[in-house]
Amino acid sequence: MHRHDVVVVGAGLAGQRAALAAVEAGKDVAIVSKLHPLRSHSGAAQGGINAAVGAEDSVDTHIYDTVKGSDYLGDQDAIEFFCRSAGPTVVEMEHFGTIFSRGSDGQLASRPFGGQGFPRTIYAADRTGLALLQALYERLGTESFTLYEEWDLTRIVVGEGRVQGIIAFDRRHGDFAGIAAKSVVIATGPAGRVYGRTTNAHSCTGDGIAAAYRAGALLKDMEFVQFHPTALLESGILITEGARGEGGILKNVNGERFMSKYAPHVLDLASRDVVSRAIWTEVKEGRGFPGGYVHLELMHLGRERIESRLQEICDFCRNFAGVDPVTQPIPIMPGQHYMMGGVGTNIRGETNIPGLFAAGEAACVSIHGANRLGGNSLLETLVFGKEAGIHAAAHAEKASTTEIPNGLVEEETALIRGMSERKDGEEPQHLRAEMQATMDELVGIYRHPNDLTEALRRIRALQTRYQSVRVVDRSSIYNINLTDALETGHMLDLAEVIVIGAIARTESRGAHARVDFPRRDDVNWMKHTMARRTATGPELSYAPVAFTRWEPKERVY
Ligand SMILES: Cc1cc2nc3c(=O)[nH]c(=O)nc-3n(C[C@H](O)[C@H](O)[C@H](O)COP(=O)(O)OP(=O)(O)OC[C@H]3O[C@@H](n4cnc5c(N)ncnc54)[C@H](O)[C@@H]3O)c2cc1C
Repeated sequence: MHRHDVVVVGAGLAGQRAALAAVEAGKDVAIVSKLHPLRSHSGAAQGGINAAVGAEDSVDTHIYDTVKGSDYLGDQDAIEFFCRSAGPTVVEMEHFGTIFSRGSDGQLASRPFGGQGFPRTIYAADRTGLALLQALYERLGTESFTLYEEWDLTRIVVGEGRVQGIIAFDRRHGDFAGIAAKSVVIATGPAGRVYGRTTNAHSCTGDGIAAAYRAGALLKDMEFVQFHPTALLESGILITEGARGEGGILKNVNGERFMSKYAPHVLDLASRDVVSRAIWTEVKEGRGFPGGYVHLELMHLGRERIESRLQEICDFCRNFAGVDPVTQPIPIMPGQHYMMGGVGTNIRGETNIPGLFAAGEAACVSIHGANRLGGNSLLETLVFGKEAGIHAAAHAEKASTTEIPNGLVEEETALIRGMSERKDGEEPQHLRAEMQATMDELVGIYRHPNDLTEALRRIRALQTRYQSVRVVDRSSIYNINLTDALETGHMLDLAEVIVIGAIARTESRGAHARVDFPRRDDVNWMKHTMARRTATGPELSYAPVAFTRWEPKERVY
């Protein structure tokens, strides 16, 4: 049996920042991560991190842009706190050693990003996430904490009305173990692999969100799924919004810069939901290229600028699409990119379960509301990762020692081992592929009521089939078949919550676009969806949105 004051699950930016804050508060901290920390999806972030530090920019403009971008579903008290923390957070990361790109004046360089009135996205070429992750990892490495690397969270243990710890599975040895903790921070990142066409890494399977849901935590606003406008046509690899920030433009088969119709003021730099819908509409109305896609053109920017500011994008285009962005247009279509929803928390990272905290993409505070602005997510991991770490440490300070109840680890082991003992049953990879196809086909950029009902029927049928999921590989070392089965079970739970929330929300707001309810309905739907797990599926309730200074207006770009 292992025991710590604070256990942080996830070693991306949110998890590492939470761990650093808890260590600095003097607690005995452990990080549990299914990947090596530097392999976390945070390292794939390209375009940058927002902070209103430019002389002509202001924190208030950042707040306003975020509120508007959220389509007025973001909590304004949280957004104000978030934007105020941006400058100090970026400076701190710079002091930790992040090598940001700089302008000719030696100041931090910044580029325009979608939906923002000012170029406030600070970057390290097109490898911002990796630069931040590396610097934070080096900083955290100077502190003492325990790292359970390549361990998978399988269950959050809740008893006597509080968190008692977690159960995790050691991939390298195939053993299960209980880790008792007074506070647990869920920082397990994205769930994008619920979809097939996604920019998210294969590891982004929403494990921590599902574990929290199974433990009784409320999930918030799960129906809001962001589609990034520019994912490479075949692979779905992200082409950062920074490419348009640097001046890239979108064109249809007629050579028209079509964004002038959809966002006459800011064109290609409208917010992501707006641009994704525009691309989708162009293709559906027959103005896409044969096979269904549009072009992103960078050629007019010149080789020097493209190759220095968008180095990784050049590699992706050349290696995965066979085009050279210096001389050729890039074929793109939108792809799933980000979950605005997650484990519901307040500004302190607290959930509805005492001792359970969440931060980063796995959490929903909510600052992104119905649509996230690019560059706000890296910032969120650091701002709210730190808050969650501080408050998890404070909770551990007051809380009494916890135990993992006797027999629970054995029960979990038997449950999961049972998947390997079946003589026949469902292969997890087939269930996963069918789930992804269902979500791609029926729960996309535009949502039709009949499609959503059909999606729910299919997801529930997959959940029933999952009851007899079978792991064929009996090996105990790096059993990918087993982790595939566990992850697929998590994602099926989340897919159901996404679809149920989308069926219930009879309006269009941000990334949730219902063809039968095309307008935003502030009278009935200015509220957060909260989903609680019951034996018969998710039970929805609603929570108010926090307002401070910004009255809802029609959102035009
Ligand atoms: C391609 C791409 C580009 C992006 N670019 C930008 C950008 O330019 N700017 C921006 O603001 N945002 C960007 N985003 C979004 C942003 O990068 C993410 O939202 C953010 O980095 C998530 O950080 P995180 O710490 O919450 O999760 P992650 O960095 O994904 O870390 C999750 C951690 O949880 C661990 N974990 C997961 N499941 C388990 C489990 N069962 N047991 C144990 N450990 C587990 C993993 O090992 C990992 O360490 C981008 C996202 C993608 C996919």
